[in-house]
Amino acid sequence: MSLEIRDLHVDVMTESGPKEILKGVDLTINPGEVHAIMGPNGSGKSTLAYALMGHPKYTITSGSVVLDGVDLTHLAVDERARTGLFLAMQYPVEVPGVSVANFLRTAKTALSGEAPKVRTWVKEVNAALASLDLDPSFSARSVNEGFSGGEKKRSDIAQLGLLGPKYAVLDETDSGLDIDALRVVADGVNRYLADGTHGVLLITHYSRVLQYIKPTVVHVYMDGRIVASGGPELADRLEAEGYEQFEARADA
Ligand code: ADP
Ligand code: MG
Ligand code: MG
Repeated sequence: MSLEIRDLHVDVMTESGPKEILKGVDLTINPGEVHAIMGPNGSGKSTLAYALMGHPKYTITSGSVVLDGVDLTHLAVDERARTGLFLAMQYPVEVPGVSVANFLRTAKTALSGEAPKVRTWVKEVNAALASLDLDPSFSARSVNEGFSGGEKKRSDIAQLGLLGPKYAVLDETDSGLDIDALRVVADGVNRYLADGTHGVLLITHYSRVLQYIKPTVVHVYMDGRIVASGGPELADRLEAEGYEQFEARADA
């Protein structure tokens, strides 16, 4: 059991043709583990997240992604989700006209193969929202439409708790949160992790979140690849010394 990313190379389609952004990413996340990816702006962190989830703009040119033995490399987005992969996007998309309640119900139905029982489901949804400091009335709003930055991140984590995917990719779920919201979001992620059966890829460029969500491994990520890996102390070193010390290795 693990999420295995092997020598992943990814092109993004630009106006002047395909451009390689991921240049060989290797990573294995076991259940119960949190892997933090820390890298500067533009290093390809979101590209990694999108490529894992199967976004059509990002082409895996070589390498593989295997989730608990299932090769996802060439599967569509919904098939990856059904296999147990979840992505909280850095910039969540608005879905006007689709309520949070309907969205969650559709997602749950798609993942489990049957519609959840109405009465228990409403209670579950309300409990999940409440655990992220969101009012029950929140479920009537259109997905992400007019949400504050914090509401977007909190509703993503409510969704994570409700759907219980095997592995979650959280792309800068901490960015733009004040300290209280960061705690609420981190508590939600920690509840998701508590039974030891789920793994998290936590993409961030600030070490602050790692005070609340304890990483198993910290990876320094530059120019589309991991250039160093270590324990939580690596995040402290980055905070103190910056990314520059790793640039030589990225160029190698
Ligand atoms: P990060 O999340 O680390 O800030 P991104 O993955 O968003 O980095 O971007 C990495 C690089 O890929 C950047 O140079 C960015 O401009 C480029 N890139 C990403 N997506 C696209 C796209 N859809 N079209 C063109 N360039 C892109
Ligand atoms: Mg390679
Ligand atoms: Mg990004």
